[in-house]
Amino acid sequence: MNVLLLGPPGAGKGTQAKRLEETYGLVQLATGDMLRAEVADGSSLGVKAKAIMEAGSLVPDDLIIEMISDRMARPDCATGVLFDGFPRTVAQAEALEKMLRAKEQRIDLVIEMKVVDESLVERIVGRFTCPDCGAAYHDRFNQTKKEGVCDVCGGTEFHRRADDNAETMGKRLSAYHKQTQPLLPFYDERGVLRSVDGMAAIDDVTRQIQAVMDAAQAGHF
Ligand code: AMP
Repeated sequence: MNVLLLGPPGAGKGTQAKRLEETYGLVQLATGDMLRAEVADGSSLGVKAKAIMEAGSLVPDDLIIEMISDRMARPDCATGVLFDGFPRTVAQAEALEKMLRAKEQRIDLVIEMKVVDESLVERIVGRFTCPDCGAAYHDRFNQTKKEGVCDVCGGTEFHRRADDNAETMGKRLSAYHKQTQPLLPFYDERGVLRSVDGMAAIDDVTRQIQAVMDAAQAGHF
């Protein structure tokens, strides 16, 4: 099963994807994480992407499609992928459709995480991750159980993203509305779009998503 989490920056896609990949045996493909790894490596893609990401704009489609196409060719993607932050434009969605069709697959389910714009800045500005295990936290909404210590791996160093600030957020949000929201009618036409209330508590959002995924797996769309 190939599933896509769709929502604005700060909707909680990454947090939910981490919880779901284990439960459903899917591989999480987060283009934002992949790009940040390229930037950290100083690869030619990373060099091209760095300033664009810091400005809150979208990296050009051809670069993203090439990166995803290389990643999708690996054997771990054969049984199912949980896409997080990709596709972000109709051109990317069409390219993905073509890639999957070649493997006689398709996007089986698109889960829209609905969150009002007004809440996104505070969700973004307080977030941090553990670089060792990837666990995601938030100063207010998802704190570590013990201050300064990762619940999952015990790590004590945390990372905050350079683009998680109020200034860049305006640009990221407008990119979402202009370039990514057209994916909602795109997938609705294909009969695979479902929505959940992303404003609910994190555990509740997980339960809503699981209900939608279980129904899709059982063929009860
Ligand atoms: P994210 O971690 O998903 O919030 O992505 C961080 C940044 O990476 C975005 O603001 C974009 O600059 C870039 N990015 C991530 N995924 C994509 C994509 N599918 N298409 C274009 N740019 C992307």
